[in-house]
Amino acid sequence: MIVGEQVPLARLSTLRVGGPARFVCEITSEEEVRTALGIARTQGLPWRVLGEGSNILAIDAGFDGVLMQMKSTGIEQVHEGNGALVRVAAGESWDGFVRYAAKEGLWGIENLAGIPGTVGASPVQNIGAYGTEVKDSIVSVSVLNTETGAIEEIPNADCNFGYRESRFKREPELIILSVTFLLQKEASPQLNYADLLRAKEQGASMETPATIGDAVREIRSRKFPNLSIYGTAGSFFKNPVIAPDTFTALRDRYEALPGYETANGVKIPLAFVLDKILALRGYCEGNVELFSNQPLVLVAHAGATQEEIDRFADSIAQKVFDATGIKVEREVRMFP
Ligand code: NAP
Repeated sequence: MIVGEQVPLARLSTLRVGGPARFVCEITSEEEVRTALGIARTQGLPWRVLGEGSNILAIDAGFDGVLMQMKSTGIEQVHEGNGALVRVAAGESWDGFVRYAAKEGLWGIENLAGIPGTVGASPVQNIGAYGTEVKDSIVSVSVLNTETGAIEEIPNADCNFGYRESRFKREPELIILSVTFLLQKEASPQLNYADLLRAKEQGASMETPATIGDAVREIRSRKFPNLSIYGTAGSFFKNPVIAPDTFTALRDRYEALPGYETANGVKIPLAFVLDKILALRGYCEGNVELFSNQPLVLVAHAGATQEEIDRFADSIAQKVFDATGIKVEREVRMFP
């Protein structure tokens, strides 16, 4: 149950920074969640849940509490019809699940191949890539409501999904135990993103969920840093969605600025602002850098601290604001 004491969060997160967690528990079942909550209660300590730690900035001060690392496994097809209803335990690897779906010939999540993290973390920020969001395949999320002690099956419509958003970000009392997906048996390739179209033009097969998943992993491996080499949490900031007239004014100044219409405004690639407007591709201060293949990605080199990353990220956000008037938001979340 408790697998470690005073474990550096740097070891439990892909940015590889952060001080010690007092107790770390590996969780493989609902029962173990309840046991860990009991330990926290009797010790008078706070608790937190963590997956693979691939989207967090863990603080230098660490966490004086009980950390639950979700390690539960299990992928179960609960129903077959036109599509397949698949219930997946929270601790399963996200990309492992994408590979499972591809092997079964099931469509819907192939564009999300290669995203690090667990299945249980996927609805929290509604992971998305290349025109697909995980919310499009989620039927419901099963949670333990720690305030009532009850298990609740929350239907998609009640998850308040948005762009990299959901209610689970604001309601940490809900511990995600499993996620149920509806995947499609009929082909439904979503190939309208430039990177995917380019890969297709260059001869990549885009016939099955497996070949699309492989093409996406290949694209990502060129753009995003390898987690086994670099300390990183992928894209550090969200791509901003701005008002149409703000976009028009910026476009007058920066002719090549791309913009994509959304229901809430125009989404612009922050990488363009960082690279083409601010010339910050590969920009480095101390041990922190904007990755040269994709400047939206922050890389922490050995010796970096949370405090240094914070300062660096704030200074980047300020430069963006000074140049464009856009207030960027972080995608990566502070932990705890
Ligand atoms: P990209 O493909 O260069 O796209 C950059 C930005 O332009 C994103 O905001 C993207 O929107 C938007 N965009 C590009 N083509 C579009 C189109 N045809 N229609 C609508 N919007 C378009 O981005 P990248 O940095 O190389 O990342 C690749 C993909 O992985 C992106 O979809 C990105 O969002 C995703 N990603 C997701 C996570 C995560 O879920 N945590 C982390 C890293 C990257 P979208 O963001 O809506 O795609």
